[in-house]
Amino acid sequence: MQHFPAFLDLKGRTALVLGKGEAADIKAGLLARAGAALRRAPGFSPDLLEGIGIAIGAGAADADLQALSAACMARGVPVNIVDRPALCSFVMPAIVDRDPVTIGISTGGAAPVLARLVRARIEAVLPPALGRIAAMAERFKARVRAALPDVAARRRFLDSVLTGPVADLAVAGREAEADSGFAVALNAAETRPAGIVHLVGAGPGAADLLTLRALRLLGEADVIVHDRLVGEAALDLARRDAERIYVGKSRANHCLPQGEISALLVRLAREGKRVVRLKGGDPFIFGRGGEELEACRAAGIACEVVPGVTAATACAASAGIPLTHRNHVRSVTLATGHTREGRIDLDFAALARPGQTLAIYMGVTTLRPLRDGLVAAGLSPATPAALVEAGGTDHARTLRGTLDSLVDDAPRWHGGEAALLIVGEVAAESVLARAA
Ligand code: SAH
Repeated sequence: MQHFPAFLDLKGRTALVLGKGEAADIKAGLLARAGAALRRAPGFSPDLLEGIGIAIGAGAADADLQALSAACMARGVPVNIVDRPALCSFVMPAIVDRDPVTIGISTGGAAPVLARLVRARIEAVLPPALGRIAAMAERFKARVRAALPDVAARRRFLDSVLTGPVADLAVAGREAEADSGFAVALNAAETRPAGIVHLVGAGPGAADLLTLRALRLLGEADVIVHDRLVGEAALDLARRDAERIYVGKSRANHCLPQGEISALLVRLAREGKRVVRLKGGDPFIFGRGGEELEACRAAGIACEVVPGVTAATACAASAGIPLTHRNHVRSVTLATGHTREGRIDLDFAALARPGQTLAIYMGVTTLRPLRDGLVAAGLSPATPAALVEAGGTDHARTLRGTLDSLVDDAPRWHGGEAALLIVGEVAAESVLARAA
């Protein structure tokens, strides 16, 4: 860490701003907003330092700035000379101001432009009136402490009330309604500490293909139940102290049977926890999310589903293969090449019909019987096809060919990561050129 982040309380203190011009005016404005009494001067003299709590210099003669810096350092007064790191005892971060919520961003002087970019991103995800949520929390602080003495229960309650509909009311400026909603929620939390399960789609494995909602829930979870396809990148975004439970699941190696996973979710929620069940891609596409939702419902546990970017769309994007095409293809079929009792249980006649794209999950190891089934049903073995491995990630790979050629080429090509088979006219290299 280059600098120690801290927030100064300047209320009632005197702040010295030395110099003239826009930069000095901006700093003076910020200091005033923090409640400091301003002392401004165009040039340095030692008596200016009398009783000050902080000093900022900008737009003054170099000798004055140097003198200010030296004098402040000698007395231990925090000093910042704009754009002169060597003369500073503290740096000014880029600021996101949602009073009383204040966020400071520093790159340790390495790249102020980057700090501004980060700020822009944070600005974009925080509601402008975030401060009203903080103000509401402040109004209820003592009551919440009294009602929920247990720290974990209190945090759970605040997590939910500060991000849910009550918070929305506060943000909208409907203070009275927000307060009554808060009081109702607090009452309920006092009597019934119920958890919730979120079935969250983690997307194809790249952290920046998570949805904003998934990101928020990861930040709020008490426990995260995840499986093999969920990348470390997504898990890194979870709350640091959230418990993580790996329940495995690869094709051949089921770490925990599905029934036990569902039972685990129910048990955790009954303990009052906020459970995020993080699943690769989308929870409802070959993710057995339906079974988990059903189990929660049957147990009377609240369960919400958060969609994710599924492998078919992620792979299509990585490979530059449009799944539909105005000129060729008007429907897409998502199918699984997974075998049940050694057989592929698919309606090949339907899949072989022209004018559609097939996106086949879990089909790499069953390519040959898939090809055989499709060809027997009338699809040409020369139909364009592609395999996409690790679609959506920064190491996605595509192998193009025909249904026939892929059967021969895939074993040598496949790197062992998740891969999806795309079959249809859209997989031909020429499809985009033809359209143009
Ligand atoms: N629920 C997931 C699919 C789970 S089934 C989703 O919506 O994407 C697992 C199969 O999905 C894998 O065998 C593979 O065919 C496919 N898959 C998942 N992630 C993938 C990725 N990043 N690239 C290619 N295929 C992927």
